[in-house]
Amino acid sequence: MRITCPLCGERDRREFYYRGAALEAPAEGDSPEVWHAHVHLRDNPAGPVEEWWYHQQGCGSWIWVRRDTSSHEMLAVQLASAQEDL
Ligand SMILES: [Zn+2]
Repeated sequence: MRITCPLCGERDRREFYYRGAALEAPAEGDSPEVWHAHVHLRDNPAGPVEEWWYHQQGCGSWIWVRRDTSSHEMLAVQLASAQEDL
């Protein structure tokens, strides 16, 4: 799988550290059950997902990726610092 870092260009997936799904965190006062579901329970969809990746062996940037899990096609990539522009 190839990931296009916004700063470095297309690179092998092994240069990156996968952090996980890009999910909105529950509110601070939400119940332990809500936090448990957020931290431990995941769907495993076939199709587009949004994820966080870290370019560990490159520029050291956190990036947000929209990827199709069926084809590994990169649908969108953006620096985490630009995330509010989505
Ligand atoms: Zn990079």
